[in-house]
Amino acid sequence: MSHTKLLIIGSGPAGYTAAIYAGRAGLKPVLIEGLQPGGQLTTTTEVENFPGFPDGIDANELMENMRQQAERFGTEILTNIVTKVDLGTRPFHVTLDSSPSGEAGRRLTADSIIIATGASAKYLGLPDEQKYKGRGVSACATCDGFFYRKKVVAVVGGGDTACEEASYLAGLAQKVYLIVRKPYLRASKIMQERVFSNEKIEVLFETNTLGLYGENGVEGAHLIYKKGESDERQYNLPIDGFFLAIGHHPNSELFAPWLQTDQEGYIQTKGDTPCTNVPGVFAAGDVADAKYRQAVIAAGSGAKAAMEAEKYLVEN
Ligand code: NDP
Repeated sequence: MSHTKLLIIGSGPAGYTAAIYAGRAGLKPVLIEGLQPGGQLTTTTEVENFPGFPDGIDANELMENMRQQAERFGTEILTNIVTKVDLGTRPFHVTLDSSPSGEAGRRLTADSIIIATGASAKYLGLPDEQKYKGRGVSACATCDGFFYRKKVVAVVGGGDTACEEASYLAGLAQKVYLIVRKPYLRASKIMQERVFSNEKIEVLFETNTLGLYGENGVEGAHLIYKKGESDERQYNLPIDGFFLAIGHHPNSELFAPWLQTDQEGYIQTKGDTPCTNVPGVFAAGDVADAKYRQAVIAAGSGAKAAMEAEKYLVEN
């Protein structure tokens, strides 16, 4: 069993920034990449709002840059996922998975931990989503949009993600329906304008999905339009692909026995700090941020977590 002063779990902007700061502070951190190396940003294309890139930057390139920067300052990166943690002992105990490049059941101990495990896409909870997963149902337009060139697709959601996914898909598909449960979009003005000005996108307001149908994959969606009490209509919408963009839930389940979380599972931190209720355990990025969920904010909180971890290690 190997030991590290600081273990960082997660490889999004929060995890890598924590690693850069901790590495520069001489802590020689170990970072576990997790299920989705590079984090959620790798499921998008262009990042236009990360400062320092006036023309935008490809999301994968941005994350690869962060990874290299973390390695440059001595971070050891392990291509594993964490399957078990024990935050009730000192040092903390962590068990890793048996991924092909990782060591089966490898165990680590750490004096401090930064949790930067991010958040994952939500599904509507319809049985048909499971039935057609990978056969027409996706929660990542940039991953799967390629398969829907010149086809008809629907995106569910009314936030920035849904608008971004719809706009991206409109570049490939023949037609994109945006299924929005409210009579308005929640997305920022600029994203709304992109959607409304794109003639390939049709917004279906006040509409919900009841199910999906199709013989060998998605061939359509059962929808319900409801306005007030009297105006209600169910109909079938022929589509080839069904994309979810209805938000995310935090990847905090592993830590829940020890850490305080809110009702949705976001890890609660003390005031404006990344400190959790367990001394020596810090949370950064989307796993602790139900509100802003931005790469630049995640990066900032990763820096804060590394600074707090350094302080903790000096004092203890
Ligand atoms: P949001 O939580 O902002 O939006 C979720 C959307 O999904 C809402 O329209 C919501 O509807 C809808 N929704 C939720 N549950 C259901 C359901 N069961 N059935 C139907 N619709 C549902 O999530 P996003 O992922 O869009 O954005 C998260 C954060 O990331 C935001 O702060 C956003 O601004 C940011 N972001 C920024 C981007 C950028 O700047 N380039 C790109 C992408 C995201 P309702 O409105 O009715 O609640």
